[in-house]
Amino acid sequence: MITDIVHIDEKGIDFDSKELEKAASIIQSGGLVAFPTETVYGLGADAKNEEASAKIYAAKGRPSDNPLIVHIADISKLNEAAKEVNEMAKKLADAFWPGPLTLVLPKHDDIPYATTGGLDTVAVRYPSHPVAMALIKKSDRLIAAPSANASGRPSPTLASHVLEDLDGRIPMIIDGGQVGIGIESTIVDCTGEVPVILRPGFITPKMVKDVCGECTIDPGIIANDSSVKPKAPGMKYRHYAPKAPLTIVEGPKEKVVSYINSQLLSGKKVGIIATDETLGNYTGGKIISVGSCDDERSVAHNLYGALRQMDGLDVEVIYSESFETPGLGEAVMNRLLKAAGHQIIKV
Ligand code: AMP
Ligand code: MG
Repeated sequence: MITDIVHIDEKGIDFDSKELEKAASIIQSGGLVAFPTETVYGLGADAKNEEASAKIYAAKGRPSDNPLIVHIADISKLNEAAKEVNEMAKKLADAFWPGPLTLVLPKHDDIPYATTGGLDTVAVRYPSHPVAMALIKKSDRLIAAPSANASGRPSPTLASHVLEDLDGRIPMIIDGGQVGIGIESTIVDCTGEVPVILRPGFITPKMVKDVCGECTIDPGIIANDSSVKPKAPGMKYRHYAPKAPLTIVEGPKEKVVSYINSQLLSGKKVGIIATDETLGNYTGGKIISVGSCDDERSVAHNLYGALRQMDGLDVEVIYSESFETPGLGEAVMNRLLKAAGHQIIKV
């Protein structure tokens, strides 16, 4: 299969352009289209079409028990994805949609188990990216979409990342440039009495608490071993991983730098994930900065790109500084810890 790449700029989208027409017709006929969202690139298919959903799993090599997120571009469509929408979900949708928040609710009978990984619940999101919205509206479907990477690889923040992983496996990629946030949506389970964060993201527990009065965090995503199973099936997999083994080094900055510098003497080719502030303190290695340590949005924005870039640098081991990002910290460190398979050294 030849993978067609079309460019659609998020500014001034022409709803009748031939690119959008073609993308929508692929979705309508049960095919796959990768598209930009404000979090990461998604790999979309008609959410109510079992065979179309199955194609997503095949293209990504995704385990079949890892459910997809159903994307809408009109709040009224929430009732087509979910059977019941409680007050908690309504409040959260009202506060954060369109935006980087996914709500888990009881699934509508029309959503096949092929889309929900066999679960009776469905994850729904209303993205704010103009290209994502245009594609969903033009195709007039609910679009099931996980991140558009090969399973286990870092999520794509550029169309070229999608091409790297899925070239020849999908018919179309919509290139809308680099995405804004750079890490996946916050997932909130709304099926109980209290909202539960199943995956940390740009929308923080505090933001959810401010809207609902309460908010808890799934113990399965805090535990750094496999003793407690996460409630979002996808969170149990090693994920977001570069090809070379990654170790996080945690501690005071000077000690972190000197530990990593000492590893440069091992004779191995070392990759280093650093910040603008520490960049100049390393005595060797292939160094990538994820931005200023004072700018947590920049760290989120650049993290996956840095992990992917490491794959092109011919390194044998990677060390990353740990990042203190108070607002987003949990989301960023959650992704980094998973990329490292929880390999962490305290200095
Ligand atoms: P991705 O879009 O690739 O980040 O994958 C979707 C994420 O949503 C995975 O971590 C899934 O486990 C999670 N997810 C999707 N549907 C549900 C659901 N019904 N309940 C819990 N988690 C879900
Ligand atoms: Mg993913």
